[in-house]
Amino acid sequence: MQLANPELLQTQAYIDGQWRDACNGERLDVINPATEQPIAAVAFVGAGETAQAIAAAEKALPAWRSKTAKERAQLLRRWYQLIIDNSDDLALLMTSEGGKPLQEAKGEVAYAASFIEWFAEEAKRLYGDVIPGHQADKRLLVIKQGIGVCAAITPWNFPAAMITRKAGPALAAGCTMVLKPAEQTPLTALALAKLAEQAGIPAGVFNVLPGHAIEIGQVLTASPVVRKLSFTGSTAVGIKLMQQSAATLKKLSLELGGNAPFIVFDDADIDAAVEGAMLSKYRNAGQTCVCANRLYIHDSIYDEFASKLASKVAQLKIGNGAEAGVEVGPLIDVKALEKVQAQLQDATSKGARVIVGGAPLQGRFMQPAVLTEVTAEMTLAKEETFGPIAPLFRFKDEQEVIQMANDTEFGLASYFYARDLSRVWRVAEALEYGMVGINTGLISNEVAPFGGVKESGLGREGSKYGIEDYLEMKYLCMSI
Ligand code: ADP
Repeated sequence: MQLANPELLQTQAYIDGQWRDACNGERLDVINPATEQPIAAVAFVGAGETAQAIAAAEKALPAWRSKTAKERAQLLRRWYQLIIDNSDDLALLMTSEGGKPLQEAKGEVAYAASFIEWFAEEAKRLYGDVIPGHQADKRLLVIKQGIGVCAAITPWNFPAAMITRKAGPALAAGCTMVLKPAEQTPLTALALAKLAEQAGIPAGVFNVLPGHAIEIGQVLTASPVVRKLSFTGSTAVGIKLMQQSAATLKKLSLELGGNAPFIVFDDADIDAAVEGAMLSKYRNAGQTCVCANRLYIHDSIYDEFASKLASKVAQLKIGNGAEAGVEVGPLIDVKALEKVQAQLQDATSKGARVIVGGAPLQGRFMQPAVLTEVTAEMTLAKEETFGPIAPLFRFKDEQEVIQMANDTEFGLASYFYARDLSRVWRVAEALEYGMVGINTGLISNEVAPFGGVKESGLGREGSKYGIEDYLEMKYLCMSI
């Protein structure tokens, strides 16, 4: 891995503006999932360093929150620009530790940077309210203030964007942050911290702790200083963190698992739907929480859709994401590969047909697959797959497919393709999801509210709503 700016390869924790080893000297290897070789050994911290980072964030808070929004925005804007200027290095780090193809990694860097830019702009527009008084001598106002010290815990599948869409609004709102990145992808997080330092974000405002997840999580959730936790990851861990946060009644943002339906009605543009399915399903080798997980195809177009999708999937180039032209990289680890393979075997043992791909390849790779004749009894229908398998379910009418699509505890992203305008509204309103892609397989951007309902989480990230999660409103009642 040859970075243009070698300073971006940081292997120490970033606490209070200092680059630090773990107190006990512990380190953890970061593994390239494509080559299964270690890339770097990163300081692996625990409870003690977490307490220090919380104290640093608390100490930095008064000066940071008393800056004007414009001053904070200028620093964030500088951070944004440095991320853009170092896109190639950040993408290379991301591909090396997370496995996604370089082209996708570059896309993620731009997406990640956009949250910093957007919230730098939003910082200046945190308007309050003046409320007509309830008595002649009363004047009532609402002001909005940053909630205080925030904690963030992020996953490996978007090593940059899941960080910036928390740190962007938090810092813009005048909060400080302690972040624990995923153990698989700490290098991208530490490179972002390096750029924050270079941008002039003051010591203690943004701290990064690669380390022991459970231990760090316990200290962050138990701390009365930490007023908010923002987590992106699995529903099981989200529930655990919510329980742990109950004792100090923290504000929570939780972006958890999904089980996205992708419905193609008989009036859809089939080629557009195939295109959308390719984008939604195979991005990051199927390892995103908004990837199409269950594809419901109307009976009358099922065979045509299946064969068009299969012929596109057969052409996907699999390999090390650092190589030019690769479209599908490895899965993050062997456990992930085994889970996807187990789902595939369960499906075929219950009557599904693999029409393309599916075979495990060397290391952590597998061939992207399309399965037909998939039914609700198969685990593919119930569990998030997080891998490059498209299971095609058959349906005959609208009511039936809405019921099947909603038959899950999850409610993050959903997609459907149709042209009848009444149907578009009916289905969009009936889907129990936080997000609905209509005739598109790509819905994520910084200006729109990302988030789920049901067991997919709490809160929204991005958009004008995203910063609200980092603000408290304060009501002022003034007697004159
Ligand atoms: P994934 O399947 O994406 O790895 P996880 O929910 O296990 O999903 O991980 C998401 C993030 O949560 C990672 O940073 C991981 O280290 C962290 N994590 C996992 N378990 C815990 C826990 N018990 N307490 C705090 N953080 C945790």
